[in-house]
Amino acid sequence: MIPLFSSSLANAGFDFTTPISRVLDRSWFVLGEEVKGFENEFAQYCGVDHCVGLANGSDALELALRALGIKAGDTVATVANAGFYSSFAIHAVGATPLYVDVDPQTLTLSPASLAHAMAQTPSAVIVTHLYGQLADMDSILEVANAHGVPVIEDCAQSHGARRQGKVAGSWGVMGCFSFYPTKNLGALGDGGAVVSNDAQLAERVRQLRQYGWSKKYHVTLQGGRNSRLDELQAAVLRIKLPQLDHCNAQRRAIATRYNQAFSGLPVKLPASLGDDYVAHLYVMRTIDRKEFSAYLSEAGVGNDVHYPVPDYQQPVYNGNAGLHLPVTDEACRTAISLPCFPGMTSAQVDEVIAAVQGFFANGASSC
Ligand SMILES: *Cc1c(COP(=O)(O)O)cnc(C)c1O
Repeated sequence: MIPLFSSSLANAGFDFTTPISRVLDRSWFVLGEEVKGFENEFAQYCGVDHCVGLANGSDALELALRALGIKAGDTVATVANAGFYSSFAIHAVGATPLYVDVDPQTLTLSPASLAHAMAQTPSAVIVTHLYGQLADMDSILEVANAHGVPVIEDCAQSHGARRQGKVAGSWGVMGCFSFYPTKNLGALGDGGAVVSNDAQLAERVRQLRQYGWSKKYHVTLQGGRNSRLDELQAAVLRIKLPQLDHCNAQRRAIATRYNQAFSGLPVKLPASLGDDYVAHLYVMRTIDRKEFSAYLSEAGVGNDVHYPVPDYQQPVYNGNAGLHLPVTDEACRTAISLPCFPGMTSAQVDEVIAAVQGFFANGASSC
C-alpha cells in the first residue's frame, strides 16, 4: 500500500535526537530559547518582522481574528472548499462567515467573487492558499484595500510558496501557519504560528496565546487562552526549516511527473508547477471520483478527498439557507488527492501513475 502521506519517509533524513536532547538537558519545556530561536528563523524565512509560535494552526486563525478585534455581529469573507478551518475560527469569535466562490483553475479565493461580496461589508477576509497553491494575492489585496478590509492568509498548506520572491504569509496583515505533522513544515505533534509585519498585531497575538497577560498574572486582553508552542516542537522545527525548500522541491517534482503523465486524461490537474505551488496536496478532479477512488484503493494507492463537503453544507448548519457556489460545489464533488510527499520513492510514483492510467484506460467517462 502506498500511503497518502508517510511521516516515517518524510522525516527519514532528519536527526531529532540532538535537538530533543538539548531541550531535555535544559529542562525548560515551554516558551524558552527554542521557541524564540524558531520564531526569529521562521520570521526571517517568511520575510516578515514578527512570528509568534502557537499551539496549532486553528488557534493561529482564531487569535489573528481576535487580534484584529473581529467580534459577534461581524462578518468575515472566506472560502468554503478548504476544510472548515477558517469557519471554525470565525464562529469561535462569534462572527459569521461570508462565503465567496473560488477560481476554477486554482481553487483559491476568486478576486471577482470577493469584489462582489464587498457589498456586504465584511470586517476581514481569510484567504486559504489551498493544496499549497498561492492565491492571487495582488488582485485580492487590490479589492480588499480599496474597501479598507484587512486580509489574513491561511498558510497551513503553503509554507514556503513564493511569487516573485515574496513568501506566503507576507502579503496579508497576518499569515497563519500550522505545523501539524503532515504539513509542508511538520512538527512531531501540534504546532502553529502567526507571522506579521505589524508589531502591534503580533504583540496582541503574543498576549492572547498566554491568557491575555501583559505581564505575568495581569490580564489586559479579552479572549486570551493557553496556546503556546512548546520547546520540543520548536527544536524539531528548527532542524526541519533549513530543509523546507528542498522538501517542497521534492513534492513539486512528484506533482510535475503526475501532471506530465496525466496530461491526456479527461481530468483537471493542478494549475501551476512553479514556485507558487508547494504541492502540499496533489489534487485531481474527475466526475468519476467514487469509482476512481475505489479503483485506486484496490490497486494499493492511498487516496482521500480534500474536501468533500462545502462549509455551508456542513450538517452543523442544518442545511444552510440553500447557499450554492458553483465552483466550490463542483470542486467538492470531483476533487481527489493522490500520494505526494517528500521521501516518496520514484518506484512509488511510477506505481501511482500506472494505477491512474489503468483506471482511465478502462473507459472512464470524461470530465
Ligand atoms: C491543517 C489546517 C489548519 C489547521 O491547523 P491545525 O494545526 O490542525 O489546527 C487550518 N487551515 C488549513 C488550510 C489547514 O490545512
